[in-house]
Amino acid sequence: MNLILLGPPGAGKGTQAQRLVKTLKVPQISTGDMLREARAAGTPLGLEAQKYMEKGELVPDEVVTGLVEERLKADDCGPGYMLDGFPRTVVQAETLEKTLDRMDKKLDHVVLIKVDDEVIVERITGRRSCPECGKIYHVVFDPPKDGICVCGYKGDFVQRADDTEEVVRERLKVYYSQTAPLVDFYGKQWLVREVEGTGTPDEVFQKVRASIGLE
Ligand code: AMP
Repeated sequence: MNLILLGPPGAGKGTQAQRLVKTLKVPQISTGDMLREARAAGTPLGLEAQKYMEKGELVPDEVVTGLVEERLKADDCGPGYMLDGFPRTVVQAETLEKTLDRMDKKLDHVVLIKVDDEVIVERITGRRSCPECGKIYHVVFDPPKDGICVCGYKGDFVQRADDTEEVVRERLKVYYSQTAPLVDFYGKQWLVREVEGTGTPDEVFQKVRASIGLE
């Protein structure tokens, strides 16, 4: 199965993607994760991307489309793929269409996870992760039990630099102006499956599964 997860930052795309990976056995391709890895490794691409990410702006289209094209060539994408956080602009979507055509790959569903802005700000600003294993928590809704991660780590949990309220509000603005037009773009191809993203991750997962015909 070939999927795109679409929705504002903090809608739960990453959380749902992790669940879907296990069910569908296709790789999760998260451009946000790829850019953060490049930044942590200090590559020229990562350092370039950092300038945009810290302000909540989008990294230039040609940088991310290049990354995704390379990633889609890998063998593990044979049975399908799940794009999380890509495409984020109409130009990216058009480039992806050409890439998929060239590779003779299809797109089956675009799952749109919808969540209100104020819920998003609350979710994102409380988000913390384990510096050892990367597991994501929330200071109020899902704190690590007794302050200890499932991997055994005990200590300070870290906040992403772009998870502050100011940057989140900018990321939302960018979403509505540059990414939301994709709902129309894919709507015209009858590919959009809308899911209400409020509720627990498991409740949302049930809705996501149903939206793509897994029940
Ligand atoms: P995410 O983890 O998906 O919220 O992405 C974090 C940041 O990485 C975004 O705010 C952008 O700066 C950058 N980014 C991730 N994916 C893309 C994309 N498809 N196009 C442009 N920038 C991206």
